[in-house]
Amino acid sequence: MESITGLSLGELEHILISWGEQAFRANQVFSWVYKKRVSDFSLMSDLSTSLRNKLKEDFTLFDIKQIKSVKSKDGTEKFLFVLSDGDLIESVIIPTDDRVTACISTQVGCKYKCSFCASGISGFRRNLTCAEIIQQMLFLNNRKKITHIVFMGTGEPLDNYDAVLKAIRIINSKESLNIGARRITISTSGVAPGIRKLIGEDLQFELSVSLHSADDAVRSKIMPINKIYPLNILIAACNEYIRKTGRQITFEYVLIKNLNSDIHSCQKLVALIKDLRLVKVNLIPANIVKECRIEPPGRAEIQMFRNHLSKHKIPATLRKSRGEDIEAACGQLRLSHEKK
Ligand code: SF4
Repeated sequence: MESITGLSLGELEHILISWGEQAFRANQVFSWVYKKRVSDFSLMSDLSTSLRNKLKEDFTLFDIKQIKSVKSKDGTEKFLFVLSDGDLIESVIIPTDDRVTACISTQVGCKYKCSFCASGISGFRRNLTCAEIIQQMLFLNNRKKITHIVFMGTGEPLDNYDAVLKAIRIINSKESLNIGARRITISTSGVAPGIRKLIGEDLQFELSVSLHSADDAVRSKIMPINKIYPLNILIAACNEYIRKTGRQITFEYVLIKNLNSDIHSCQKLVALIKDLRLVKVNLIPANIVKECRIEPPGRAEIQMFRNHLSKHKIPATLRKSRGEDIEAACGQLRLSHEKK
């Protein structure tokens, strides 16, 4: 049975009208699900009993179930969910001084097998449905009012394009969680055709691209997707995106000791992106992932990298790794649960 959380307001109106109900009933249902946060159709007290029963017969409300959670000393909280078919996914709440960010998964597992990420280790299983994506947000929002969403959990969002974009439209609407598109970030490992497709969307979401190296050989080693979309193809797609939308792209760059964090790597990065207008670089010292033998460089090297970008007028921020004590890097909680 399908979950009602995968329906847009328009789709629900259409269904309710076909049942002989009035369109405004869909707004009432949305209000119960997204604002009053009920978990059972029978609690929707301003709907007739027959409509509540019919909804219950035809739809589920929540099909993802939390089975584990861990909380870091820094407030980051990670949740492991089991889906109706028994697959596992993770989501994270990251509270900081000025925002509460929900990090959402878009697939079960991931086919790209980036070397610094635990999500690819057990392979790709399937795309998440729009409803499963929305339910992660609803669950996290019930836990703590979320202000920002990043699609940086397990999976490649642009390989599950339609479900992700539909979920963004639903969550962005004022009848649901009303989270502004500018507070929603789609993060891609570099699916160039997907970046081009985003140009045609009428939403003002943020786009971030995981770059991690400006050298094809190194990038292919840590991100196998680079063999499909090498740097020249990826950067051309980014250039077109910036030119046609006038919007900025953030390049994510995980700094990994002895791999991509020396001055030579930084010079290559400057050469690769300096002519793109509207870019910024987000430097992230790698989380230690035991299974992948990854560790971050020292503080001096991180500072050197950042200073060199600034010298070339490329804005760079340094993001602290969060939740290091709770296996917060993508896929780690699921992996350790599966091992057990
Ligand atoms: S970083 Fe993203 S694209 Fe790479 S393996 Fe992990 S989930 Fe997949």
